[in-house]
Amino acid sequence: MSAEQVTAFRNSPTIRVGLLGFGGLGQAAARVLAPKRETLWVAAADQKGYAYDPRGLNPDTCIQTYHSQGSLGYLEPTGNLSHNSIADLIARADAVDGYFLALPNLPNTFMASVAQQFIQSGWRGVLVDALKRTSAVEQLLDLKEQLQAAGITYLTGCGATPGLLTAAANLAAQSYAEIHSVKITFGVGIANWEAYRATIREDIAHLPGYNVERASAMTDKEVGELLDKTNGILSLENMEHADDIMLELAGICDRHQVTVGGVVDTRNPKKPLSTNVQVTGRTFEGKISTHTFTLGDETSMAANVCGPAFGYLKAGISLHRKGIYGLLTAAEVMPQFVK
Ligand code: NAD
Repeated sequence: MSAEQVTAFRNSPTIRVGLLGFGGLGQAAARVLAPKRETLWVAAADQKGYAYDPRGLNPDTCIQTYHSQGSLGYLEPTGNLSHNSIADLIARADAVDGYFLALPNLPNTFMASVAQQFIQSGWRGVLVDALKRTSAVEQLLDLKEQLQAAGITYLTGCGATPGLLTAAANLAAQSYAEIHSVKITFGVGIANWEAYRATIREDIAHLPGYNVERASAMTDKEVGELLDKTNGILSLENMEHADDIMLELAGICDRHQVTVGGVVDTRNPKKPLSTNVQVTGRTFEGKISTHTFTLGDETSMAANVCGPAFGYLKAGISLHRKGIYGLLTAAEVMPQFVK
């Protein structure tokens, strides 16, 4: 595109969105965006290629191509195969306002390395992730000044947990003079684990005896065998989840007061339990109470991750237009509903 066309695209009120990662969440994200008027989905990358069309990508064609050929790089005529798809897409896509990073964080340093690629590329805009681990968010915190200097507004932890539930915990805390605990319990039901390989591998990494390295090194067959032993169920307790550092940074409570656990059923789309966050505290009158915020059982993991991610992306665009750059978390900013 010419420099004039890029400026025209950049100045239009439509938010031009890119997706990095086109697995379970990336594909759901494309479907979430399709009916929206305020956004246009123009770019996406997977491990083997990318597609870019400033006039907009079609979710059905993209998902079909990804399933039948294994990469968006095969999409005609806008796809390109690449072993360096993220860097190549950033270099090529000159009219993207913001990206949702629906990428696996395997190894645990991967998302921070992607943020560094954006910083080095000279691209300016909004980045949103749905990172889960505290140590992964800490790596991004170390990049805060570099993101600011690069003109990037990066919102981290913007999925369901961390994300929607962490932000709800912040709101709920406002009734209290003192916070005693924040307890997040999630229930996830998916029909088959292969639709969300990274999510399930990252959850396995929290099981006793496992870690990120061991879970990422597992073959699909080994994951299948493990799930056969547990009847498809993963029960997770005291997880290293960034809800803790996000609530600490937002000044709500100490990270040790936050606990996260849940149950994932990888063979049934029905949730094994209702996802909720319980915030216990003392009011100014001295009463001890608990607020509970429970998600509707009909809402899927994809709905509760992608919806908030784009709400935060829109909020990030407002901040970016005001010249506010750097690193923020989902507990510090209110998402804005995307129409
Ligand atoms: P997935 O395994 O289904 O898909 C991953 C995608 O990333 C694939 O398209 C793959 O080709 C692509 N990819 C992998 N390496 C790449 C690379 N180097 N360059 C470009 N593309 C690459 O993943 P998923 O199950 O959709 O999960 C995505 C992330 O979302 C995970 O990190 C997961 O933990 C996170 N997640 C967060 C929440 C939350 O509430 N915060 C909930 C669910 C999932």
